[in-house]
Amino acid sequence: MNRPTLSDISYNRFIMEGRLTGARCLNCGARWIPPRPICIACYSSNLEWMEVNGKGKLAAFTCIFIPPPSMAARGYDRKHPYCVGIVELDDGGRVDARIEGVDTANPESIRIGMPMKIKLLPWTADDEAESYLAFEPA
Ligand SMILES: [Zn+2]
Repeated sequence: MNRPTLSDISYNRFIMEGRLTGARCLNCGARWIPPRPICIACYSSNLEWMEVNGKGKLAAFTCIFIPPPSMAARGYDRKHPYCVGIVELDDGGRVDARIEGVDTANPESIRIGMPMKIKLLPWTADDEAESYLAFEPA
């Protein structure tokens, strides 16, 4: 893959293309998603891009019943909560994302360790079509 600057901007551009990317530290092996220009485990700046397959397990989650205004404008409220979580990727690294395809009104039905797969959500922000990173049960 080409090697743009390790940044959130490049990460978001790859998300728009349906690709989940991160950075692997060539000094200590730590993996960061989104990519970072400096490894916060060993402070090396010797990192390389990596593309991950988008499969993993749910490591943590929360269901949001009282949303911020931007999510309330999209129809989420106490009766229509949404879920966000951390997914531990099979390729290494963790990423935060929306969690789709789960019963958000019954958070007790959602299990830590559930196998997850990537799902990109269409999104509109500032009148521009974008993709938003989400995962759903595999
Ligand atoms: Zn490192």
